[in-house]
Amino acid sequence: MYKIAVAPGDGIGKEVIAEGIKVLEAVAEIESLNLQLEYLDLGSDRYLRTGELLTEEDVEIIRKHQAVYFGAIGDPRVAPGVLEKGILIAMRTTFDQYVNMRPSKAWHPYTPLKEEKKFDILFLRENTEDMYMGAGGVLHGKTSSVDMRLRRELYTMDLKVSGTSTADDDYAFEVGMMSRRGIERFADYCFETAKRMGKDKITAVDKANVCTSLYGLWREVFDARSKHHGIAVEYMYVDAMAMALVRAPERFGIVACPNMFGDILTDLGAEIMGGLGVAASGNINPNGVSMFEPVHGSAPDIAGKGKANPIAAVLAGKMMIDQLGRPDLGKMIEWSVKMAMRHRMVTADMGGSLSTKEAGDAIAELVRSTR
Ligand code: ATP
Repeated sequence: MYKIAVAPGDGIGKEVIAEGIKVLEAVAEIESLNLQLEYLDLGSDRYLRTGELLTEEDVEIIRKHQAVYFGAIGDPRVAPGVLEKGILIAMRTTFDQYVNMRPSKAWHPYTPLKEEKKFDILFLRENTEDMYMGAGGVLHGKTSSVDMRLRRELYTMDLKVSGTSTADDDYAFEVGMMSRRGIERFADYCFETAKRMGKDKITAVDKANVCTSLYGLWREVFDARSKHHGIAVEYMYVDAMAMALVRAPERFGIVACPNMFGDILTDLGAEIMGGLGVAASGNINPNGVSMFEPVHGSAPDIAGKGKANPIAAVLAGKMMIDQLGRPDLGKMIEWSVKMAMRHRMVTADMGGSLSTKEAGDAIAELVRSTR
């Protein structure tokens, strides 16, 4: 039995999650699985009605489930950041989903790469620390209200290390901070995933040639955990990695990234794969509740028109089934998506003529055909 909390959210989230569930139910039907779904009302409609985002009751409901299957949030009627912080980021933090997982593999002919390269990359991004911890602020020249000692230290440091600023200038700072414990648990997940996938090496991305303190610790921990797990680690600077992903993506298997570089590189990974229509992601807590979602947002411009491509949501469902311990069923879903693409049973963004619902029906039917 699989207990899944379903949060379709806003805009096309509702449409694509309906198709993802259709595909999961087709899998459950042929494999006699008991799928228990509980729907959560998260998103803009509820927020505008009641002012609620992710409530304690929602959290309690989610705790009783093995995973969350999430659509998208975002609405032009709500100020940017409110729903994202109050629902998505709140969920990641509450359930300590410290790994963001995004596969990137070539979906021919939808990849924009000219050469027909075969690649199959799994990006793992540290999801809680680094530049996104919220440790930042602005010091305003002479009128700063921030602690004077800190200002003095910053100015002294500035005089020592950089050229242009003066003591009465304005300073803005956002601190990239990572803990040994945070890197360690993330590195362990990367090496354990490599082991599970039969790989003998992972690639770790950083900028250790410039940000020596932050990525010095990153490398120290990765070196130690590499020895512990008996799996090699190669390091790539993030700038070199951006180039290599376009030139030779087939070189890479598991790519481990700190939070901010991962944010950028996984979007590059999504684009070389075939774009938002096919990009799926998981926010993972290996010992708790994980959440799976398409990478795209609520796309208000096409919401309610039956135009949304459901494949990213279907592939997010595949990742969820993999994570719940049935990669064999995940393969079945992926095969069905591949067949739907091969036979052009796809939506207009991929050059097909099917509606969201028809594209979902086609994939569910292909799943049933494996019976
Ligand atoms: P949000 O603010 O919620 O992230 P957004 O519209 O700014 O929404 P996305 O939803 O990520 O950003 O997508 C940008 C554009 O890409 C959309 O406006 C839409 O035209 C297109 N798009 C996104 N997802 C899909 C999809 N599943 N199928 C077809 N087109 C899509």
